[in-house]
Amino acid sequence: MMKRVLFNNIQYKIGDDFFIMNLYSFRRHRLSEVESNLLQLIDNKIEQEITLNYEEQLLLKDLENKKQILDQKTISNFDLLVNSSIKVNDQMNINNITINITYECNYNCVYCYQKKYENRKDTLSISDINNIYTLLDTHFSKYNLDFKLDHITISGGEPLLKNQIKILNHILEKFKNTTNNFSLFTNGVNIIKYRKDIDFSKFSEFQISIDGYNNIISTINNNNTSPFDSIIKGIDYINQWTPEIRIITMMSNETIESFDYLLEKLNIFSLFDHDNITFKLSTIINTTSDKSIDHDFYDYREYLALREKIKPTLKGTKYQFDSIYDLSSLSFKILRKVNDRSVNKTSKCNTAEVIPLLFGANGKIYWCTCNDLSNGIIGEFRKNITLNYLEINKYLKRNVFSIDECKKCDFKYVCSSGCPISIINSKGNVLVPNCGVFKEKFVMDNIERFIF
Ligand code: SF4
Ligand code: SF4
Repeated sequence: MMKRVLFNNIQYKIGDDFFIMNLYSFRRHRLSEVESNLLQLIDNKIEQEITLNYEEQLLLKDLENKKQILDQKTISNFDLLVNSSIKVNDQMNINNITINITYECNYNCVYCYQKKYENRKDTLSISDINNIYTLLDTHFSKYNLDFKLDHITISGGEPLLKNQIKILNHILEKFKNTTNNFSLFTNGVNIIKYRKDIDFSKFSEFQISIDGYNNIISTINNNNTSPFDSIIKGIDYINQWTPEIRIITMMSNETIESFDYLLEKLNIFSLFDHDNITFKLSTIINTTSDKSIDHDFYDYREYLALREKIKPTLKGTKYQFDSIYDLSSLSFKILRKVNDRSVNKTSKCNTAEVIPLLFGANGKIYWCTCNDLSNGIIGEFRKNITLNYLEINKYLKRNVFSIDECKKCDFKYVCSSGCPISIINSKGNVLVPNCGVFKEKFVMDNIERFIF
C-alpha cells in the first residue's frame, strides 16, 4: 500500500494517473508511475537515513524547484503567515440563524439527524420569537451592525404541523425586514394541507426529504402512511415560485434497494426537469459521535460498499453524493478546477466571518445545529434573554493553532481541527482535536473511493 502523505503532499490516483497535492499550498502535480514509486522509495530511504542516488536526488530537487515540495523553513513561515492573518471576529457577526420551532414530528425516521430530540414536545411560542428578535436586535446594536441576515432557516422536528402555523407565520412577519432568504426544512407531507394558511412564496429555499416511494417511507418513518403523492404535489405547488429546492434522500440499505423505483417515480412527475431542483444522496450522520458517519447504520467499509453499489445507478441522473463532512474540504481542493484558488481554513466552522447560531425549541441557544441538547449552549431566550459571549469566545478561539496536535499536523488546512461540537458532544472538551476520518487508516488507504 502506498504511503498517503509524502513530503507534506497527499498522493492520490485518478484512474491510472498519479497526482500529489501539497497540503499547505494545495498546488497539484501529476506524476508518472515511475516517479510515484520513486517518491515512495525516497521517503523510505530518508526515514532510514539511507543516501539517495542521483536519480532520486534529481526528482526531489525538481519537485522542490517547482515548489511542490516545501522545506521546513518555508512551511514554518507559511504557518506563521496564516496564523497572523486569522481574522478575529471581534464584531461577533451573525448572518445565518436556524430556528427549530418544535422538536415534534409527524414522522419518527430511524436515521433522522434530529433523532437526538426524541420527538420531544417542546415548541416555541410567539413571545419566544419576539425574544429572539429582541436578542438579535440588541446584539447588532451593541456592535453597531445593521440587523441584516443572509438566511433564516426554519426547521424542527417538523415545522409544518398544525400547532406551528401561527409561529411560522409570525417569524415570516417579524423578520421580514431583516432578510430576503427564508429557508424551510420539511418532510413536505403537509405543504398542500397548509397552502392556504402559509404564504410559501416567501421562502427562497426548501429542503425536503424523500427517502423513497411509499413502501420505503412508511417503513423507515415509523408512520404507516403513503405520503409520496402528497410530497410531490407539495413540491409541484411551491415550484410555481421557482425557489431553490433541495431533495435529500438518505443513503441506507433500504433506500438504495429500491432507488431505481424512486427514480422512476420522480421521472413520472418530471421532477428532474427543473434547474432549481437539486438532488442529494446523503450520508447518515450522528452528531453526538466523533465518527463522521453513523456507525449504527454503517461503518466506513459498509458505507463505501453501499456507495459503490449505487454509483452506477446515479450516473446520468441529477443525484449527487454529498461528501462525508470531514472530507468536504479535502475533496473540494482535490476536485477544484485548474487555477481555482483555495483557502487555508483554520477552523471547521466559519468562525472568522460568522457565528453559526441555532435557536432551540427548548428556549436555549446553541452554537450550531449539530449540538445535542446539553452541549454547545451559548445562551437562552425564554426566561432570560442572553448570549453568553464568554462561551462564544471559547468556540471562536478554537482553530488549528490553538490545539498542539493540530499545529504539527499535515492535514491541518484540510481538516481545520474538525467539528468542535461533535467533539464536545463526545469528549466534553472543545480544545481537543477532532481528527475524524484523517486518522482512520481504512479511509486514508481508500481515499479515492471516498472522493471520486
Ligand atoms: S459546529 Fe460543526 S457542524 Fe457546526 S458549523 Fe462548526 S464544524 Fe460545522
Ligand atoms: S484534528 Fe487531528 S487530523 Fe485534524 S488537524 Fe487536528 S490533529 Fe490533524
